[in-house]
Amino acid sequence: MRLVLLGPPGAGKGTQAARLVERHGVPQLSTGDMLRAAVAAKTPIGLKAKQIMDAGALVPDEVVIGLIDERLDSPDCAKGFILDGFPRTVAQAEALRELLAHKGMALDAVLELVVDEGALVDRMRKRVDETLAAGGAVRADDNPESFKTRLEAYRAQTAPVSAHYDGRSQLTRIDGMAPIDEVTAAIDRALVGATVDRR
Ligand code: ADP
Repeated sequence: MRLVLLGPPGAGKGTQAARLVERHGVPQLSTGDMLRAAVAAKTPIGLKAKQIMDAGALVPDEVVIGLIDERLDSPDCAKGFILDGFPRTVAQAEALRELLAHKGMALDAVLELVVDEGALVDRMRKRVDETLAAGGAVRADDNPESFKTRLEAYRAQTAPVSAHYDGRSQLTRIDGMAPIDEVTAAIDRALVGATVDRR
């Protein structure tokens, strides 16, 4: 199962990706998580990315493309993967296609979680409250100002990625406003027999 999950920040990609990992036994590749790990470890990439991420902007394409290129070569990706937060620009989508072709892989599905924009800020606030209540650390970019920048980046740079896959008849839209279990069920239905790259 080789899958791309698209959707704005707060759409529920992480929640659904975790369920897909369990069901399909393939890893979730989140460029956000990879970058946060690089920031925590103070690697050269992390040092470069920290300020950009904290502000809510996108890190340069070549940085995330490099991370994904390397990650896809890990043995645990041989059976498949769920890409979460990548590709986030049309250039990344094109690079992904080339990378996969080079590695002899093809996508099975591109799913977009469609959510009303008005709901997203509330979801971010809820995530912050829940994290604090659980005694966890709140993400540096989960504040109203950075969230606004993240939404703007989504609109300007990532929304065209959906159009890119739609134009290639590879996109399936899923109602991300439905309850979590219903979203999961809709994804399961979309994945039955999905082999978009081979149509
Ligand atoms: P979100 O919850 O907003 O979807 P992520 O955890 O996926 O957040 O990403 C957090 C931040 O990491 C982004 O705002 C951006 O700065 C950076 N980032 C993650 N993935 C990418 C990517 N594919 N291209 C550029 N920047 C990225």
